[in-house]
Amino acid sequence: MSPMSPEKPTTERASDGDKLPNFVLEAVQRDVAEGKSGGKVMTRFPPEPNGYLHVGHAKSICLNFGIAQTIPDAVCNLRFDDTNPSTEEAEFVRSIQEDLRWLGFDWGKRMYFASDYFEKLYGLAVALIEANKAYVDSQSLEEMRLGRGSFYKPGQVSPHRDRPPAESLALFERMRAGELADGSHVLRAKIDMSSPNQNLRDPVMYRIKREHHHRTGDTWCIYPMYDFAHGYSDAIEGVTHSICTLEFENHRPLYDWFLDQAPFDPRPQQIEFARLNLTHTVLSKRKLQQLVAGKHVSGWDDPRMPTLAGLRRRGYTPEAIRAFCDRIGVSKRNSFVDVTLLEHAVREDLNARCRRAMGVLRPLRVVLENYPEGEEQSFDAPWSPDDPARGSRRIPFSRVVYIDAEDFAETPPKGWFRLSPGAEVRLRYACIIRCERVVKDEQGKVVELRCSWDPDSLGGNAKDGRKIKGTLHWVSEKRAVPAEVRLYDRLFAAEHPGEEGDDFLEEINPASCEVVTGARLEPALAGAPAGDRVQLERVGYFCVDPDSKPGAIVLNRTIGLRDSWGAKQKK
Ligand code: ATP
Ligand code: MG
Repeated sequence: MSPMSPEKPTTERASDGDKLPNFVLEAVQRDVAEGKSGGKVMTRFPPEPNGYLHVGHAKSICLNFGIAQTIPDAVCNLRFDDTNPSTEEAEFVRSIQEDLRWLGFDWGKRMYFASDYFEKLYGLAVALIEANKAYVDSQSLEEMRLGRGSFYKPGQVSPHRDRPPAESLALFERMRAGELADGSHVLRAKIDMSSPNQNLRDPVMYRIKREHHHRTGDTWCIYPMYDFAHGYSDAIEGVTHSICTLEFENHRPLYDWFLDQAPFDPRPQQIEFARLNLTHTVLSKRKLQQLVAGKHVSGWDDPRMPTLAGLRRRGYTPEAIRAFCDRIGVSKRNSFVDVTLLEHAVREDLNARCRRAMGVLRPLRVVLENYPEGEEQSFDAPWSPDDPARGSRRIPFSRVVYIDAEDFAETPPKGWFRLSPGAEVRLRYACIIRCERVVKDEQGKVVELRCSWDPDSLGGNAKDGRKIKGTLHWVSEKRAVPAEVRLYDRLFAAEHPGEEGDDFLEEINPASCEVVTGARLEPALAGAPAGDRVQLERVGYFCVDPDSKPGAIVLNRTIGLRDSWGAKQKK
């Protein structure tokens, strides 16, 4: 096996020129300058462990951890927002940490679980009851729903709203003790049933839910609701800037109301930013879960998934994803980012880091009739034509080689510089060949080309100076490594899958994974480990899949060399 040049690390990020501003970072920097919270900055990334992280989460991660990296002494916590027992699993807690690390972020010892605060949160709830700011409501869920009113209709006060605090307290204790049935009672904040902001109409703080929790087991049968738990979890940790997506903008008055009742120092503030939406992509965890559960993809790490695990398996680098997040900026306006921007980021990064090699996806046999049988020679080829420091390997060559079937045309269109009967082409790094004859099977399909080689063109240039326009990639039949190549394309052909009530599952691109089984690679790629990336010259960027076995390498196409979608659309 030939030695392989290691990947060249690229540190280059998006150039500052095309970087969009980040208003959250700017706001935090202003707070520091003004000495707010004593100049302290603590952010957090709060995933709910109910799915794998996706590229939208990457935006939030780069924002939260990026602030901690940019501002001296600032820190960022990883907090699992695991207050809802029904959907959370240990597998997701594991995958989230793995994916965060892979993306290049380190939380050190700052890993927390909202479930670790259950006792403290219970205490805060008791204090609110005692202060007559919360009460146990014994209405049915349906009665409560009706009582909430609507955008046009003020809510109706619950008959239990004026229950004495002592009575609420006793009921709340019985809720915790498991003496009351699921759904029979809830704890509600006492705020304002006629507020135009429905979030303030006595929101539920606790519900009874007899469910096993992945960390607290069966210790609890009441679980806190998001709005109550989230702000107080921030406050308990000492978070100063609680950064979330725009959907929570009208929850901010509630976030602040809870903090008004139990003054914490420092007092966290909520700042909202626009979530990432990508064209041709679904990013809702619920939909990603549906794709996995319905076996529309092979799993959360299917290379077509927008999850970090999927992108990694596809061959994306963390640097490319971070550069993408840098480049899209952070704003307060919801919009769609064109997925070509993500594709561009990975293409640019792989172009700078990947070594070049040769592989033929659909081999067409080429017999060089004037090359002596049984002989073999090899050519030197640099791993990176632009960077001789990355070394080279030898490429074996003998009487039979493969070229890609699509590089031959029996009746070539105008301007065809590839192979056709009577024409000459250069085999990359090797020599010039001429097509003498075409061999067909009974159905008239071209199965082999009989060619001649020019022994005076070693390295690829003719001695007599004649110009050869076309250069093809190729592999030697004798030493070729067989491979399965998975050609991935966008999972959704539609720009906005599931738009206008369409079922997004019905819009899956049937051509999103084409498996090519008979591919042949140059021998230097034998034994390439899973995760290894390479550019197959003239074909695209590829990554070795973990499904590979000794002697049976599987490559995933990360991305083509050019933006073929854009090109198709322009046509
Ligand atoms: P979904 O809506 O897909 O279920 P979520 O927001 O519930 O996602 P969480 O695990 O709660 O998922 O998200 C953790 C953090 O990541 C939150 O702070 C959330 O705002 C942020 N986040 C989630 N999706 C995006 C996105 N598309 N763009 C930016 N940030 C996101
Ligand atoms: Mg959430």
